[in-house]
Amino acid sequence: MESILVLTHADESGAVLSKGSLESVTAGRELAARLGAELTIGIVAKDASSAAAQVAGAAKRLLGVQGEAFAQARFASDAAACEALCRAAQATIVLAPHSSRFARVMAAVAHRVGGLIDTHITAIGGAANLEATRWFYRQRIEAVVSREKRPWFLLLDAGTHPAFAGEAAPAQAEEIAIAVELPALRTEVKGTRAPKQGAQTIRPDAKLLFVAGAGWTKKQPDGQIHVEDAGELILKFLGASGASLGSSKSLVDQGGEGNSVLPFLTHLNQVGQTGSTPRHAKGLSTCCHGEEPHVVGWRFVGERRAVSLDPNCGWTRGKADVVYVADAFEVMKRVNALLEDAASGS
Ligand SMILES: Cc1cc2nc3c(=O)[nH]c(=O)nc-3n(C[C@H](O)[C@H](O)[C@H](O)COP(=O)(O)OP(=O)(O)OC[C@H]3O[C@@H](n4cnc5c(N)ncnc54)[C@H](O)[C@@H]3O)c2cc1C
Repeated sequence: MESILVLTHADESGAVLSKGSLESVTAGRELAARLGAELTIGIVAKDASSAAAQVAGAAKRLLGVQGEAFAQARFASDAAACEALCRAAQATIVLAPHSSRFARVMAAVAHRVGGLIDTHITAIGGAANLEATRWFYRQRIEAVVSREKRPWFLLLDAGTHPAFAGEAAPAQAEEIAIAVELPALRTEVKGTRAPKQGAQTIRPDAKLLFVAGAGWTKKQPDGQIHVEDAGELILKFLGASGASLGSSKSLVDQGGEGNSVLPFLTHLNQVGQTGSTPRHAKGLSTCCHGEEPHVVGWRFVGERRAVSLDPNCGWTRGKADVVYVADAFEVMKRVNALLEDAASGS
């Protein structure tokens, strides 16, 4: 008989569970219901008792590790906390969000408790034989993994389950009897350095992914390039819509090639075979050709639309749901004006 532990952590506030953690809670509840297994939620937070209120009714047992040492992500303290939670819960299946905070510690935790780990899990199926699904080779090959060894740790990719949203209720996370024994802590987070110009353009939780292609910096029908206009249009749209910003490789590569660039773009924005594979409900690609290595990163975007001047671009050949063969400068100018009208209520 399996028993399940969902490991969660708080966001920067220290008292509110991260979205990925709440998604893992949903996955844990679904799995526990299907297997008839017991569910425990473990919380790592500065203030685990407050964080526990969000999942008060979600599981039979809530365990918490809390204190100043767990306010910040750090290998030594996070690994010790997760290990203590695992030992207290004695679960056979451990689910956790594939957040940067947990991804860096969970393999070590699995090793310490004699288990095995699989990462980037997108779905959990099976009943008698549990099956975890993940993608390989940049989302081209889907594999179904099952293992005999327990405890089996599964790190769940963000956006694969809805976030748990039960009624918030007062809850006391059951303190772990044995306090976490912390090793020497040599790492301290002194602050955060934001990307260029402080503009945070990558928003994994946004409904819309807006992707800029190299066309924004190419010569336009008047024979000129209009990079400054492009930058203004894009930033205005991101500000008004709350969309996340993605880019084609060609566009982010241009900086290194000495061409005019959009200053707020880095390789972190790159979507594709050698870039990221974001998950958003909708995607809008602009001034981009829709080449295969780029489009492969759009695998998990729900509804895909594109604006390109080229009626024979990759998008029009079956890679987008809707393609507007139009000038993206004109389209985005109009879209921004409509958003402005909507915001002012006119
Ligand atoms: C091994 C390998 C891995 C790769 N990995 C990636 C990857 O991870 N991500 C990635 O993006 N690429 C990747 N590439 C590169 C990829 O193949 C393409 O070269 C790249 O994505 C093309 O970028 P683009 O569409 O922005 O530019 P372009 O191909 O230059 O296309 C620009 C488009 O903009 C249009 N346009 C111009 N002006 C306007 C306007 N005013 N309005 C509307 N449309 C306009 C043009 O018609 C054209 O279609 C990889 C390539 C290889 C070989």
